[in-house]
Amino acid sequence: MTDIIRLLPDSVANQIAAGEVIQRPASVLKELVENAIDAGATAIDIYLKDAGKTQIQVIDNGCGMSETDARLAFERHATSKIRESKDLFSIHTLGFRGEALASIAAVAEVQVRSKRIGDELGTQVDIAATQVNGQAPVQCPDGTTFTVKNLFYNVPVRRKFLKSDSTELNHILNEFKRIALACEQVSFSIFNNRTEIYRLPAANLRQRIIHLFGNPMKQHLLSIETETTLVKVGGFIIKPDYAKKSFGEQFFFANGRFIRHPYLHKAIMQAYAGILPAEYIPGYFIYLEVPSESIDINIHPTKTEVKFEDEQAIYQIMLSSVKQVLGKFNVVPSLDFETDNSIQIPVLRPDTKISTPQIAFDDSYNPFDTSGNYRQEQRERNNLHNWESLYTGFENENRQPDIFTDTGAENEPASTANAHFQLKGKYILTPVKSGLMLIDQKRAHERILFEQYMAQIVNHSSASQQNLFPEAVELSPDELALWSELRDDFAVLGFDIGPGGGQKVNIYGHPGETGNKNPGVVFRKLLDDFRHTETDLFESRRERLAALLAQESAIRYNQPLTVEEIGHLVEKLFTCAMPNYSPTGKPVMHILKMEEIEGYF
Ligand code: ADP
Ligand code: MG
Repeated sequence: MTDIIRLLPDSVANQIAAGEVIQRPASVLKELVENAIDAGATAIDIYLKDAGKTQIQVIDNGCGMSETDARLAFERHATSKIRESKDLFSIHTLGFRGEALASIAAVAEVQVRSKRIGDELGTQVDIAATQVNGQAPVQCPDGTTFTVKNLFYNVPVRRKFLKSDSTELNHILNEFKRIALACEQVSFSIFNNRTEIYRLPAANLRQRIIHLFGNPMKQHLLSIETETTLVKVGGFIIKPDYAKKSFGEQFFFANGRFIRHPYLHKAIMQAYAGILPAEYIPGYFIYLEVPSESIDINIHPTKTEVKFEDEQAIYQIMLSSVKQVLGKFNVVPSLDFETDNSIQIPVLRPDTKISTPQIAFDDSYNPFDTSGNYRQEQRERNNLHNWESLYTGFENENRQPDIFTDTGAENEPASTANAHFQLKGKYILTPVKSGLMLIDQKRAHERILFEQYMAQIVNHSSASQQNLFPEAVELSPDELALWSELRDDFAVLGFDIGPGGGQKVNIYGHPGETGNKNPGVVFRKLLDDFRHTETDLFESRRERLAALLAQESAIRYNQPLTVEEIGHLVEKLFTCAMPNYSPTGKPVMHILKMEEIEGYF
């Protein structure tokens, strides 16, 4: 019998290890930038092609590597950061496992050029799929440049799982923000396909946050500072009136490293309890300093999950310090979450003619009247059958005098078949042939609007309502980048938007159906939502935007509706091609079957 156990070749072992550390372009970026920081860089420039799928280049002015080190760096377990096991308990660098470069080189084409200060020449190493293809002396500046091309080119299954450029860029920018927020003394720039997304000068923490999240953040930061023997807490929390419904502004750092910590997040949620409505998530940038022997950062390969020795105590300290800050600044609960201070009133020039201001919104606007450009008649005809079939039979079979309602009064509805009833400002109840239909009013309206937008997109007939004065909206740098990418898509939906200089855009017109909402607020909300939805649900970016706009514009829960409005809503719903599901795939209606109802009695 021959032995069957074999050692895996390096290339295979590295590829397996890469699976843990390198999931997507953002993971490569994280590892390269962390290495640059560990190398003492004070300036880091990042150039991406196609959201990092084609290329990720990181240029630093750090300590550089010797000829031998440049080659050794790619070996698994090669690190300059720890020498013996006891070093593991006093780690001051971001990396220490010595596996990142080996992993990246296993699944991409990598080139490094590096030179130490004082060395005459630098070294270039080319490596792809763990195979060293060349090493030679080169002329290059002090510091290190890593260029990683065609990530997962040799692992097609993983390459296939990469998402759209905007999703991958979103992941990259999330990693970028985490690092930039931990190293405010380092200057950064990041470009994607030659578009500059951020240019961050070395700054203090407050400035760094504002550079990253845009000027409007300025008025919303509250500083937090507590020192105990166990932990030092510093940083900022965001005032409740600037909280968002999606994640994106929650950051914990422990000893200079971004960490995820659901348990400590709960402490903050608890501190904001009662101040924020249920769906809003408090924002924060919180920096913890603990003695390095009281934290275990080695429990996860990407090192974002950590364990504190005394988590419960830290929870309590966090809870009370956040509460204290909220109390001290006398933060009053604000109920109007739709308004946003960032909207700026346009400047009046001397030659501007002042006319009586008119409200740009159509106050006769009826959210249920979707006539106009929408080529609906055809659909209506096609679907009438669908709609009628729900009712046919109902009148003949079931319309018997009802002892409670058939009082013979004059204004009695002619037929109970058309009776609709709004329940708790949320559901519409209506009798149908097979029982009682329950319709979710918001989702129903989302579906109606969504199909209307899609029809507009197909027919190129988007209706834009012009603003009397262009509305200037200040965006954060990544919002601005996303807008330039999605500009055409916004245009087909009826947003007439142009650059407004600096970080601003001007909104000249907006889709007519956004209800009574401020177009600037709707626009920013769409950008924010766009970044936080997964693409898989939708066939195109336009479809995704149309769904988000429908979500934003649809009637809310708790909005009382008149009988006519309900009737109109139900009717429109059944002229839709897919009335059963909301654009994001949630059920719109449910029928409580007669048998089920009878079972109750
Ligand atoms: P780790 O960061 O865990 O040590 P890596 O695989 O990320 O492991 O890097 C291996 C080694 O390569 C590092 O320990 C460091 O000595 C060297 N290195 C990597 N990137 C740089 C850089 N940008 N500048 C200088 N040295 C670097
Ligand atoms: Mg590293």
